[in-house]
Amino acid sequence: MPNPWQSEAYRFLLYLFASFGAGWLTNELSAALFLGLLAYLARHLINLYRLERWLRRGAGAIRPASNGIWREVYYDLSRLKRQDKRRKKRLGKILNRFRKATAALPDGTVVLGPNDEIHWFNSAAGRLLGLKNTDIGQHIGNLVRHPKFTGHLAFRNYEKGISIPAPRNPDTIIGIRIVRYGKGLRLLLAQDITRIKQMETMRRDFVANVSHELRTPLTVLTGYLENLQEFPDMPPDRWVRSVDSMAEQAARMRALVDDLMLLTRLETKIPDVVNQYVDMPEMLTGLCHELSALQPTPARIQLQIESSAAVLGNETELRSAVSNLITNALKYSPAESVVTVGWVDEGANARLDVIDAGEGIAAEFIPRLTERFYRVDVNRSRQQGGTGLGLAIVKHVVNRHGGELKIKSEVGKGSCFSVRFPEERILKNQEDAVMKL
Ligand code: ADP
Repeated sequence: MPNPWQSEAYRFLLYLFASFGAGWLTNELSAALFLGLLAYLARHLINLYRLERWLRRGAGAIRPASNGIWREVYYDLSRLKRQDKRRKKRLGKILNRFRKATAALPDGTVVLGPNDEIHWFNSAAGRLLGLKNTDIGQHIGNLVRHPKFTGHLAFRNYEKGISIPAPRNPDTIIGIRIVRYGKGLRLLLAQDITRIKQMETMRRDFVANVSHELRTPLTVLTGYLENLQEFPDMPPDRWVRSVDSMAEQAARMRALVDDLMLLTRLETKIPDVVNQYVDMPEMLTGLCHELSALQPTPARIQLQIESSAAVLGNETELRSAVSNLITNALKYSPAESVVTVGWVDEGANARLDVIDAGEGIAAEFIPRLTERFYRVDVNRSRQQGGTGLGLAIVKHVVNRHGGELKIKSEVGKGSCFSVRFPEERILKNQEDAVMKL
């Protein structure tokens, strides 16, 4: 195939020679040259017009016939058009397949625009959230009006999901998660979690009932065992040992039942009932005195109160969490070592530190410590009268107060358990107390 630019150059020369010849014959050289160039320009203008019309008519239009460089231009453009058509078709098919797949999903999916307007949703989302096709373009907060949902949407921090009753059927509980993608777009995922919630409630009720039912017989048993221990004519040594051992085991069971009941209470209570003025320096001083009195070496606990901040929270829960942390520090460190309890300001927040110079915890165990019944060394924990629930209780209490639990530890050197309370729960002066209480 000849080079199109070469043949175009020949064509131009042809126009030039023809007009030059005509000019020479007619003795009107400039006029003939002008007319020749005009004819050449007109050819290009006509082709430009055809090209524009052809492009405007879209994919179906017939390619205009031409020659020279214009034939090349038309040919290349029609090739691009064909490619574009094929690509569009392929994309359309992929999009269709994707839509069919998401439509078949049992979980609801809604594509939200930058202003929370609905761009698209699948049929499961329609069913779960009560959306109709005419709702496309509407603000989702106007259609799903639960305050928890509108608050979550407005808060724009989607790290944690929420659960709300379905708008059309309050017996159905839906779990909602929002994830960001693309520029300003978000994907809302809705799932029917009624069954999971029911199972969770069943598990909680079961643990609560069993613990409750065990408590009464345990109280009776412990009472009799205490009577027996105080009985002046207690038969031989063998019996004394057995009764002591029974009393010890009964006390362990009681501690376990008490911890289980406390955990259930923490799980079922609404988070925002914790709103008392808790004088942390006073509480920590009292608690450290009580725990020191129970220790064979009373000077083990060193209290360092560097902040006068009080906490807006639930005193019983906070007491129980701090007591668990200090008891652990005492349990898992040598009998003569010091345990430091610190209460310090951290900017607008305040922090509680419980530091021991004990055995420490290897890094791989730290993430699991707050799981129920998780112990690094089960035998060691049992020997110390541990239930394996202490840190689970601490984590729940800290979460309920919007705080953060951090554990730093080094094997053989000791551990530091820190609880940071957020600014909104910290009362540093009278004004704070008036505003936040
Ligand atoms: P336990 O009743 O067994 O003490 P916890 O939930 O309070 O249960 O603690 C879980 C586990 O974490 C403990 O069994 C222990 O292995 C580890 N642990 C907790 N606190 C400390 C600490 N201060 N030093 C070393 N290990 C600790």
